Amino acid sequence: MTPGIVWITGASTGIGRALADTFHEAGWTVVVSSRGVAKLRSWSKTRTRAVAIACDVRREASVQKAFAQIVKRTGLPDVVINNAGVTSFRTLTETTTAEYRAIIETNLTGPFLIARAIVPRMQRRRSGMIVNILSYAAKAVYTRSSVYGASKAGADMLMRVLRDEVRHDGIRVLNVFPGAVETPMWPEALRAKYAGQMMPVVEVAQAILQAIQLPPGIMPEELVLRPQIGDLRV
Ligand code: NAP
Repeated sequence: MTPGIVWITGASTGIGRALADTFHEAGWTVVVSSRGVAKLRSWSKTRTRAVAIACDVRREASVQKAFAQIVKRTGLPDVVINNAGVTSFRTLTETTTAEYRAIIETNLTGPFLIARAIVPRMQRRRSGMIVNILSYAAKAVYTRSSVYGASKAGADMLMRVLRDEVRHDGIRVLNVFPGAVETPMWPEALRAKYAGQMMPVVEVAQAILQAIQLPPGIMPEELVLRPQIGDLRV
């Protein structure tokens, strides 16, 4: 796939920021979004082919407004990466209802709202790619991740069904299942203690770019990326 336009949600830090850097260096026009725009703007204003847009993926009005702004400023994206995500690292009974809702609305409702905004336009154009940064927690049982794992497993099935609904319209849907990646999502003490066992964020971003660059006639459906040693040895 030749460089085109990519929209990355949750691009102010972590995997999203590394994806923005990696795609930009590879020649793509990069739209970065997240709730806060200060970090996005300081990234985009030092680059050409870079656009910063506020978008809270939990809110339909915010997603629709962001999508309209993106189409106006860059044209319809070729690739959208549903990367925005949150977790809480609590047991089920410790998790408050507010935390439950925030995780489900960001990790499951968010990709649904983004897909509803962009897929009909991609269908009319008969090309496009939806990439979903899920988690290995959608496949394995990790304590203190019940709601997070459920949100990611839910998004997995949501997007598996979407894939079969749009594959004949020239649209590809890739679900990515990373294991531990060294990003600010981890509480600072855990990140410092286990950084050596986590995947470097830049290498994860490069692996995702490589999968996206497969020829359009090949649909990479799933990409499981885990540290060479597997789970963290805690
Ligand atoms: P991170 O550094 O905490 O970044 C999360 C990003 O999501 C931030 O840019 C944040 O920006 C944005 N965000 C949060 N809520 C949002 C909302 N409602 N609307 C829009 N943007 C929102 O985390 P990360 O580790 O890079 O995680 C990125 C993705 O990878 C997540 O989906 C995560 O589940 C997944 N993942 C991470 C790991 C890992 O080990 N780190 C492993 C597997 C999967 P704002 O706060 O400004 O909105």
